[in-house]
Amino acid sequence: MAYILDERQKQVSVAGANAPTIECNKVSLAGSVSQRACVFCGSRVVLYPIVDALHLIHGPIGCAAYTWDIRGSLSSGPELHRLSFSTDLQERDVIFGGENKLYDSLIELIDAHNPKAAFIYTTCIVGVIGDDVERICRQVEKEKNIPVIPVQAPGFQGSKKDGYKVACEAIFKLVGTADKPTPKKSINILGDFNLAGELWILLEYYKKMGVHVNATITGDGRIDDIRNAQNAGLNVVQCSGSMIHLAKMMKEKYGTPFMRVSYFGIEDMSDALYDVARFFKDDDMMAKARQLVKEEISRLMPELAWYKERLTGKKAAIYVGGAFKAISLVKALRLIGVQSVIVGSQTGTPEDYELIKKLCDEGTIIVDDSNPVELSHFVKEKHADIFIGGVKERPIAHKIGLGFCDHNHERKEPLAGYEGMMNFAKEIYATAMSPVWKFTKNP
Ligand code: SF4
Repeated sequence: MAYILDERQKQVSVAGANAPTIECNKVSLAGSVSQRACVFCGSRVVLYPIVDALHLIHGPIGCAAYTWDIRGSLSSGPELHRLSFSTDLQERDVIFGGENKLYDSLIELIDAHNPKAAFIYTTCIVGVIGDDVERICRQVEKEKNIPVIPVQAPGFQGSKKDGYKVACEAIFKLVGTADKPTPKKSINILGDFNLAGELWILLEYYKKMGVHVNATITGDGRIDDIRNAQNAGLNVVQCSGSMIHLAKMMKEKYGTPFMRVSYFGIEDMSDALYDVARFFKDDDMMAKARQLVKEEISRLMPELAWYKERLTGKKAAIYVGGAFKAISLVKALRLIGVQSVIVGSQTGTPEDYELIKKLCDEGTIIVDDSNPVELSHFVKEKHADIFIGGVKERPIAHKIGLGFCDHNHERKEPLAGYEGMMNFAKEIYATAMSPVWKFTKNP
C-alpha cells in the first residue's frame, strides 16, 4: 500500500491466516497527521462529564474551544459541566506568568458557582512557561475547603491516551476521601459518559437485576459518589482505554476487583449483565438478568431481521477511539448483515487487535492510529458503503461521498443497550440506503 508511510507500515494489517501482529501503543509519527487528539483533550473527555465540578482550563482561549457542545454528556441534576471556563492566557501572561490570573479566576469562579470540586487543566503553553499550578491549587483548596485538583495535561506531552491516564490520576485523588455505608453487591460504572442519556438505560437494567450502582465515573458523575467509590464491590469498566488505569489503581490500593464490558450490541450487552450476576454469585440476580435479556431479545430480533434482510451485503468502515468499541461494532454490524471491511482505533492494544483479527473476515484492513490519507484510500479500496467514526472522521466520509454514522461524543441518539442497538440499526439503514449516495459515489 504505497500511500502508507514507511514508518507506519507495521501499524496496518490485513486479517487472514498469516496476518502479522500489528504494532501499536506508539507515539504518533510526526507529519502523519494522526487522527488522535492531544493529552489535554484526552483528560477533558474523561473528566468533563462530572457535572457538579468546576472545569477550568489554564491556557489560551483556543484550547477551551472543546466545550459541552462537542461532548454532550447529559446530567440528571447540576449542569456546571456545560460551562466552559478558561484563564485566557495572553502574551503578557506568557512572559510574566499566569499564576495570579489562575488564582483570581479560581476564587471568582468558586464563589460564583459553589462547585463540589475544581479540576484545573494545564495546557501546552503552561507546560512551556512552567506556572506552579500545583501550588495555586493547594492554596485555593485550603482557602475554599473543596478539592482543587491539577490536571497536568500539556497537549504536547503525548497522545490522547496519556490524557486518559492523567484524568484517572486526578479522579483517584478523590477516591477514598469519603466513607458512606454502601451495599455489598454494588458496582461502579467506569467509562460510560452518558452521551444521549445512555447511562440511564444501563442504570435501569442494573436496577431490574437488583444491582446497586454506587458511582458513575464519569457520566452524570457526582464528586461525593466518586469520593466513596472504593466501597463498591466491583468496578465495571466500559471504554477500557480511558478507565482501565483507574480500575487498576483502585484494585491495587483498595482491592476493588474490576471487569471489562461493552454495552454496544446485543451480545456484549447481555454478557455485561450476566458477568455482573456471575461475579456476585447471586442466582436471583442471574435469573433477573436472564429474564431481562429474554424480553429484550424477543422484542428486538424480529425488528432487526427486517433491517438485516435489507442491509445484507453492505460494507462498513470502522475507525473509533477505543478498540473495545470497535470489537462490539463488528459484532453489532454482523447481526444486521453488514460486513466490516476496515476496523481501526486510535488507542488499541496488541490484545485488542489480535481479537479483531480473529473476529473479522479475511481481507479486513486493521489499522492503528490512522490518518485521513490512509482512511480515504482504505475506504475506496474496500468499497465501503458507510463509515462509522467520530467528529474527525465525518469530513473524510463526506468528502468521499459516503454515508457517516457518528458513534462518538456528539451524537444525540443513545446507541448503548438493547434500545441503542435498535437505534444503531435504524441509523445504519437510513444512512447506507439513502438514495443520495448514488449521486456522489465514485463509480
Ligand atoms: S495541543 Fe496544546 S494548544 Fe492544542 S488544544 Fe491541546 S493543549 Fe491546547
